[in-house]
Amino acid sequence: MKCDVCGVREAQIFQPHTGRRLCRECFIADVRERVRREVDRWGMFKPGDTLLLGLSGGKDSYVLLDILAHLHDTSRIIAVAIIEGIPGYNREEDVRRLRSVARDYGVDVIVTSIREYTGHSLAELVYRAWSRGYRVAACTYCGISRRRILNFYARMYGADKTVTAHNLDDEAQTAVVNLLRGDRTGLIRLHPKARPASPLLVPRVKPLRKIYEWETATYAYIMGFPLQETECMFINTRPTLRARVREALYEIESRRPGSLLRILNIIDELLEEEAEKLEPDALGSCSKCGEPTSPARQVCKLCEILSRAGVERPLYALFSQKGEEQPL
Ligand SMILES: [Zn+2]
Ligand SMILES: [Zn+2]
Repeated sequence: MKCDVCGVREAQIFQPHTGRRLCRECFIADVRERVRREVDRWGMFKPGDTLLLGLSGGKDSYVLLDILAHLHDTSRIIAVAIIEGIPGYNREEDVRRLRSVARDYGVDVIVTSIREYTGHSLAELVYRAWSRGYRVAACTYCGISRRRILNFYARMYGADKTVTAHNLDDEAQTAVVNLLRGDRTGLIRLHPKARPASPLLVPRVKPLRKIYEWETATYAYIMGFPLQETECMFINTRPTLRARVREALYEIESRRPGSLLRILNIIDELLEEEAEKLEPDALGSCSKCGEPTSPARQVCKLCEILSRAGVERPLYALFSQKGEEQPL
């Protein structure tokens, strides 16, 4: 059977949400074009912007790197790889491999770790929290730390935007979780037009947000990018609501292909005006580390969860004392 787009090459990939059968070349071109349209639609970045990519070392990192290298001047792209510190997962050699692939694109990768920033690896933090009876999902520590570290480097390098590899599955799950929680602000903050809550936060964009996870996996496979063989050992400690939403959405998507895209497209349309109107919060600063906090809080989210793990003086707070010059 021939490809539905070029009509020349053999079709190899069925795309359920469009009902088309594509050859490898047309599939790659389709994904790149959809990312370009999404970037343009929201003005995610402009030529000349310095972009700081947060790369995890997973397949989506390579896909993000490849697509952005086709969309943007690579001399204006910096990448940061954060080693979480989870036994057997995202090890030094995975990061070395990522670094060497990135070098072929002309992109430098700064390698850092959660330990380097907080003084403790992710696994240490999680076990310390659990041993104190705080049954938090590892993803909470991971997500909050990664986000902070990325922003730290973005400020340090004067980046205009931070860029993450979140795909459509991730975004649709987060949107539905926010809906189910009734978290209106959280939902609006997810919109590509929403500005960050504080001037200390560098705007974050997600160019792959309309690309299905199976598509990023297929893209990575076709391009010969390494697939991470090991799963994170904390996978089963994922927050329950999110895990249920994930499962339910897969079920719905398999019966009605295109569902995830429709969910996100409608939310994008409905919330565009709200997102543009969203004002930065009147943020306070953390009494421990000086980073932004929501008005009702004394300490920031990261300091709070570290404190729950018994870490009262995290490393980053030592070199960014309140009132002192930030080491930027
Ligand atoms: Zn084709
Ligand atoms: Zn803090």
